[in-house]
Amino acid sequence: MAVHSPPSPETRVDASAFFASPEDEQLWQHARSLRERYWSRTVFFRGIVEFSSHCEQNCLYCGLRRENMLLARYRLSPEEIFQAAVAVHDLGIGTVVLQSGEDGFYDAQTIAALVRRIKTELGLAITLSLGERSTEDYALWREAGADRYLLKMETFQEEAFRTLRPGSDPASRSRAYAALQRLGYECGNGIIQGLPGETDETLAAQFAALKALAPSMLAVGPFTPHPDTPLAGHPGPELPAILRAVALARIALPSAHIPVTSALGLLGDEVRIKALEVGNVLMPSLTPEQVRAGYSIYPGKNDSTETPISRAKSLMDSVTRAGFSIPAGPAGQGGAWKAP
Ligand code: SAH
Ligand code: SF4
Repeated sequence: MAVHSPPSPETRVDASAFFASPEDEQLWQHARSLRERYWSRTVFFRGIVEFSSHCEQNCLYCGLRRENMLLARYRLSPEEIFQAAVAVHDLGIGTVVLQSGEDGFYDAQTIAALVRRIKTELGLAITLSLGERSTEDYALWREAGADRYLLKMETFQEEAFRTLRPGSDPASRSRAYAALQRLGYECGNGIIQGLPGETDETLAAQFAALKALAPSMLAVGPFTPHPDTPLAGHPGPELPAILRAVALARIALPSAHIPVTSALGLLGDEVRIKALEVGNVLMPSLTPEQVRAGYSIYPGKNDSTETPISRAKSLMDSVTRAGFSIPAGPAGQGGAWKAP
């Protein structure tokens, strides 16, 4: 099943479609036992607020790329972002993730003030995912109280990186990541699976590179084609390959936080719950209803007909019904524990 037109979350997937071979199933069982050893049956929720769809970058795979003129862009004000963080807090979720395109409209002081306000008034753990900024900006936000930063390498294949992220440089992204580590952020890294040129060998090399960096969070999202990008015609990976990659991520870094990405969630709630046997983090979008469909990294993202709050609640319910537990509070969200 290629990931072209995403099915609704209710779509059921035949369980026999999960694995391509008995070897894949064995790999899964191994990854599953590692997940249970480190995280038992807990699932950590992080509420993500996607506060700007403007982006100065031009990544070939992403619908927010600056040359996509078909996208109606939005920006949330600091007050609107804060109110979305209140919604995260009121759901009993201990971490807010603030994410955006690379958008210099928000200067470092504006972000710092927002981080400080969320920290003092709501006491949430704060993850930032704003792309590459200066070390000074990262330092300012850390001082303001930001706990974590998600900056995925996307691909460790240098040639592919330069082609897929024109104008961006792998060494500079690596340096930005290293600066975040030095500043004491809990760092998240990761890749997009199934980009053009990927083979079993290149994927194995990506996992080796990720293992060497040992991020606290390791995100492996399946490439999902966006019709208004140069990669519109490149198919995404199929379900067995997607699950195999999540299992390989767990085996590479057994104690890491591994999210079941929203790109994987496009395949429906049944697949999402299956993937939680190996992954242990979910990041529902709490971006306000009026703008959320505009955060069109790939089609289907934030397409739910439910309101963000009720969608997050029903996700929490289905996770609990599937026999997982959701720890409360920022410490329970991974703040007190660091991957070795
Ligand atoms: N602009 C920031 C953060 C927002 S982009 C940055 O790039 O770091 C969020 C994530 O979306 C990226 O890290 C990338 O992994 C993912 N992404 C973008 N386009 C995608 C696609 N077509 N399929 C799957 N994931 C994609
Ligand atoms: Fe911008 Fe991030 Fe999309 Fe690249 S992946 S175009 S940096 S939002």
